[in-house]
Parts: sequence; C-alpha cells; structure tokens
Amino acid sequence: RGRAREVLATVRDREDNRLGVEAMALLDAYGIETPAGEIVDSPERANEVAAGIDGDVVMKIVSPDVLHKSDIGGVAVGVADADVADTYEDLITRARNYQPDATILGVQVQEMVDLEDGVETIVGMNRDPQFGPLVMFGLGGIFVEVMEDTAFRVAPVSEPEAREMTEEIQSAPLLRGARGRDPVDLDAVIETIGRLSQLVTDFPAILELDVNPLVALPDADGGANVAAVDVRLTVD
Ligand code: ADP
Ligand code: MG
Repeated sequence: RGRAREVLATVRDREDNRLGVEAMALLDAYGIETPAGEIVDSPERANEVAAGIDGDVVMKIVSPDVLHKSDIGGVAVGVADADVADTYEDLITRARNYQPDATILGVQVQEMVDLEDGVETIVGMNRDPQFGPLVMFGLGGIFVEVMEDTAFRVAPVSEPEAREMTEEIQSAPLLRGARGRDPVDLDAVIETIGRLSQLVTDFPAILELDVNPLVALPDADGGANVAAVDVRLTVD
C-alpha cells in the first residue's frame, strides 16, 4: 500500500492526470501479476532489457497523449532481439507523427504473454455518482465493445461476488474451455478482481482504472495464471 501511494504521488507532479503502463507498479504493489518489463528511454536500453527477457518481446509507446496505443501503431508484438532498436525509433516516430508535441515518457519493453492459450479479459472500475466504485469484468474485444457483455459489482467486491461476475457474463463458457480449449484458472481471475477492488477502495483518488487486457491463462504448475498486460487510469 505504501508502494502504491508512492506511484500515485509521482503523478501529482504531472499536469496530466491520466496514467498508462508507467503505473504498472501500482498493480504489482497489490499483487496483480504483470509481465516482466521496463520503460526505457533509449534504443540501447531497450536492447539491454530485451536481452534480459526470454524470447521475443512486446514494445509499446508510453505517452499520456496516446491513450489507445495500438490505434496509432504504438504496440509492436513479437519483436525479435535484432529488431528492438529499430522498433524503438519507429514507435517514437509514430507518436511524433500522431502529435508532434506529445509528451513521450519512453517505450515499454515487455515480456510476451501467450495469447494462443489465454483469454483476454477486462477488469475495470469507474466511480458512479449513485452507486460509488463500480468494478467491471468482461471478456476483451467484441464481447465488451459490441455485445456489452459485462458484469458489475460495487467495491469492495467479496470473493463470492467476484466469482459470480465471472459466471454471469454470457461469454463465460469461453473461460471454462469451449471448443476443446483448456479452461482458464478462474480462481486467479477472481483473486485479481478482488485485488483490484481493494486497490480502488484504498485509493479514492483513483477515479477510473482499466486493466485491458488481463490475460487469463490455463492452470499451469506454478507461475502466474493471469497477466495484466495493459493498464490505464485517471486520478483526481
Ligand atoms: P492499447 O490498449 O493501448 O492499444 P495494449 O497494451 O493493450 O495497448 O496492447 C494492445 C494489444 O496487443 C493487446 O490487447 C494484446 O492483444 C496485445 N499485447 C499487448 N501486450 C502484450 C503482451 N505482453 N503479450 C502478448 N500480447 C500483447
Ligand atoms: Mg489495452
């Protein structure tokens, strides 16, 4: 909680009250698993960080002026070590082309998460004037955007309530392993909903928060079965 407070304190000094992946430490502080990674400010550092991560990496522009990174080509998935430095320059150029005076905090170099076996979910919160902090859960992509297939509970969300959320969405069968896929580790998803609920309960200054995607993975022996790959929040 102390560590989360420190992360939030750093934004108080900024003119912008929107945060992106630079706030991933906030999730870490609440035990929400995030892929290994770092935000770097040079192609050389990008190479060093990529070298320390197994396999290909994902690289993302980090800028408060770029809220939807992939919309401007600001996310490069599956970058081989040899292409890391070029990709760094490319991402910066894309952000500059999009908005010449954009504040660029750097480029995030992140471990790849296995989306083949995983299911992209969304866990979020916004403060409703009537109900207070509403925690949302749904599956990513068209399920949220087109079908509006989401479940809501008021924070703090209990474990049984979080479980209900994962069960009541129409796309729930996809979590249970439709079409011969392995079921995801639902307990890990439920625990994450609880942890996020605790975070927004402890910090009323967080006005909105979205983890999109939270990749839900099949139960593996050891290791994390969820990965918070992207985060976006607004603070008071
Ligand atoms: P944004 O939502 O701002 O466009 P994201 O960080 O969510 O940026 O990345 C966009 C998409 O790229 C994700 O929804 C996911 O499909 C893919 N992606 C992002 N990071 C990773 C990662 N570490 N491993 C695998 N896929 C990723
Ligand atoms: Mg995203």
